[in-house]
Amino acid sequence: MANVQVAVRVRPLNKRETKEGGRIIVEVDDKVAKIRNLKVDDRPDSFGDSREKVVAFSFDYCYWSVNPEDPQYASQDVVFQDLGTEVLSGAARGYNICLFAYGQTGSGKTYTMLGTPASVGLTPRICEYFSFFFFSKSNCVAFLSFSFLEIYNERVRDLLKQSNQKKSYTLRVREHPEMGPYVEGLSQHVVTNYKQVIQLLEEGIANRITAATHVHEASSRSHAIFTIHYTQAILENNLPSEIASKINLVDLAGSEKADPSYCKDRITEGANINKSLVTLGIVISTLGIGLGSMIAKYMFSSGCFVFMNLLHNSFFFHIYIYKSTANTGGDSGIPVSPGTSSRGGSSQRQSYIPYRDSVLTWLLKDSLGGNSKTIMVATVSPAHTSYSETMSTLRYASNAK
Ligand code: ADP
Ligand code: MG
Repeated sequence: MANVQVAVRVRPLNKRETKEGGRIIVEVDDKVAKIRNLKVDDRPDSFGDSREKVVAFSFDYCYWSVNPEDPQYASQDVVFQDLGTEVLSGAARGYNICLFAYGQTGSGKTYTMLGTPASVGLTPRICEYFSFFFFSKSNCVAFLSFSFLEIYNERVRDLLKQSNQKKSYTLRVREHPEMGPYVEGLSQHVVTNYKQVIQLLEEGIANRITAATHVHEASSRSHAIFTIHYTQAILENNLPSEIASKINLVDLAGSEKADPSYCKDRITEGANINKSLVTLGIVISTLGIGLGSMIAKYMFSSGCFVFMNLLHNSFFFHIYIYKSTANTGGDSGIPVSPGTSSRGGSSQRQSYIPYRDSVLTWLLKDSLGGNSKTIMVATVSPAHTSYSETMSTLRYASNAK
């Protein structure tokens, strides 16, 4: 498995889209997702040029979940068979893993990550497999513990601890010199069977919902991270060894705030969501290969100077980021030597990965890059009314590759 894998999932038209006469403008052909811009057709000034604009993107997986009758329909099980098993096999080998759902509100992030009682999603399926398989190995003792948190407005809340909701977004992220970033005071829950896992999951989901004045807004404006700490103590030929892995399953805030033009006059909340999603995109694409137009577009808008030194005869950029504002102190970039997690070619210079530019990326630092695997599922609506959001999701996902 490559270090960064990207999947796209297209959900069915919803009631509102159907009522509005929503036309399907996204199509999936094996690993390619195509989007058509119908607007060209409708433009009166197109001088008879009624050609549709089609843009194609290729990904590691494309899931068509529009209509169960379609032959290529991708059910929750199909998604689990690909992505869930990638997570499990990586964890078994000791990798840290991040699996994200990214997309506009209502595009299917929570459906993909958690699912519904009738159609269970990735997180419960992964947990079920962990409990079933790993507790039953004969030469290995496995320990599972969980935490579940929410990031809202750059503040962290424990979803598995009852507390006064208003005062609950107070946990702080700290960094241990060896263990890496952690949330101070976050509860860890050791489990010994699947039933306990599901109880924790349900408790966290219920907490996430009740905190909100508007249910819909709560989950669309915060990131939820469900973390599985998985440790295997193995005895082989009388030699003990330990393999530890951390799996982060992340339901991101709605990406519709990621457009910088949205945020200008909006409250800090929108700007913080934007910042964390942009930083996440930068971090992932720096770890992967592509550092394309997204970086230039977003970095300048967030007050940074980016000097891109395009290496001769190479696709890879080297990036030096100097923050022009001092809002995160002097420690906004973590040096990573080329050839470890950033594929920087033969230069002796170092790339900087701006983990600490957002709480989200800071917290996930040790699960992004180095000894880790990243999987992103970009969820989209198929309707023409979501053209620009879908286009921007596909671009974001494509840049992550
Ligand atoms: P998000 O978390 O991105 O805001 P949701 O996951 O809540 O979006 O999805 C919005 C609605 O669409 C929900 O009612 C959900 O059940 C439905 N939905 C999303 N994706 C799918 C899918 N692949 N198949 C069937 N229904 C879906
Ligand atoms: Mg959601």
